[in-house]
Amino acid sequence: MDHFQRQDGELYAEGVALRAIADEVGTPAYVYSRATIERHFRVFDDAWEGQDHLVCYAVKASSNLAILSLLAKLGAGFDIVSIGELERVLRAGGDPAKVVFSGVGKRRDEIRRALEVGILCLNVESRAELEMISEVATSMGKRAPISMRINPDVDAGTHPYISTGLQTNKFGIPWREAREAYRLATALPSIDVMGLDCHIGSQIADAAPVVEALDRLLSLVDALQEEGISIHHLDVGGGLGITYEDETPPTPASYAAALRERLKGRSLRVVLEPGRVIMGNAGVMLTRVELVKHNGDKRFIVVDAAMNDLIRPTLYSAYHRIVPVGVPAEAQDVVDIVGPICESGDFLAQDRELPRLAADDLLAVRSAGAYGFTMASNYNSRPRPPEVLVDGEAVHVIRERESLEDLWRDEKIPWD
Ligand SMILES: *Cc1c(COP(=O)(O)O)cnc(C)c1O
Repeated sequence: MDHFQRQDGELYAEGVALRAIADEVGTPAYVYSRATIERHFRVFDDAWEGQDHLVCYAVKASSNLAILSLLAKLGAGFDIVSIGELERVLRAGGDPAKVVFSGVGKRRDEIRRALEVGILCLNVESRAELEMISEVATSMGKRAPISMRINPDVDAGTHPYISTGLQTNKFGIPWREAREAYRLATALPSIDVMGLDCHIGSQIADAAPVVEALDRLLSLVDALQEEGISIHHLDVGGGLGITYEDETPPTPASYAAALRERLKGRSLRVVLEPGRVIMGNAGVMLTRVELVKHNGDKRFIVVDAAMNDLIRPTLYSAYHRIVPVGVPAEAQDVVDIVGPICESGDFLAQDRELPRLAADDLLAVRSAGAYGFTMASNYNSRPRPPEVLVDGEAVHVIRERESLEDLWRDEKIPWD
């Protein structure tokens, strides 16, 4: 459930007309709903009530300080993948003791900083990384809490670019090498084995592969216990999908129920790393129609947002619902919604049936709250859009639109 609803035909975010926001901050612009973010987090967190657990929001989905602050206030931990994300979490008031650090290529300085601030756990993706962490920790006179990210070799059944649990992916330690990796972890100096981790992919539409992965991890927990290696927490990763078009992913409650069924009678703490399911449908991107262009039979709606602002359609062939902000026209057309960038891949929708559109119409690209702004770039020297947080009747600009000067702020002409 989200708080983007029509009132008298006009699309609102909570108590504010999206048209009013477009008039105030211009387009393109990202708009998030505070009530929706809070609701999504609570529903996800409540599904685990009665089970020792920690929900670590995946920062890369949407990493604005205001959003991190909001989630920190709700008690969230954070799943980070870089020192940049770690410093954002700290700056936003997040608790380092609730941070897990994922990623296949952590640098020594990143590991050092993570140990310095005392994060909950490093999710380790290779034996080489384990040795590196041991060295860094030893040099600091500290102990490093770790989980091994094990690749359970199950197919999440999702897009190849966001499927991560197969042997052929770069992620994690191969299933067959897992025990050996834990033996190494216990043999190395300055390492504390805390948990076991996996993350099999994103936009998962069915709990079955996650349950299958969990079963594999649980059998590994038991096998390790027999060797005297105790696992305290099980991190099942993120990846729960959302409805972009007509997908019917499990609800957070049924997802939790399916996993909890398997955890009965065990005293493991569960760590979860949701990103998309918290933020995806809590944000829209506003864009304005520049003009309507006819190439023979083909009708292009040229808008002021482009692949640099929202790359998901281009990168993942992702579907985003696109709706008029104003009262939708009766007549329908089949159109491509395209941006002004010099790439054929620069589209937001192709062959889409939409209410008839004209120049100056405002559109809302739905489900843009996750992997939207965080993947935006300055390609074609386009300033990145602002981010706005609506809270009831209040509109907060939580990131200003970049200025033209921002584009070359850090550049130098050597002969000037
Ligand atoms: C991206 C990522 C997540 C979040 O995935 P969502 O699909 O947004 O829930 C969680 N954990 C890891 C390790 C990731 O790389």
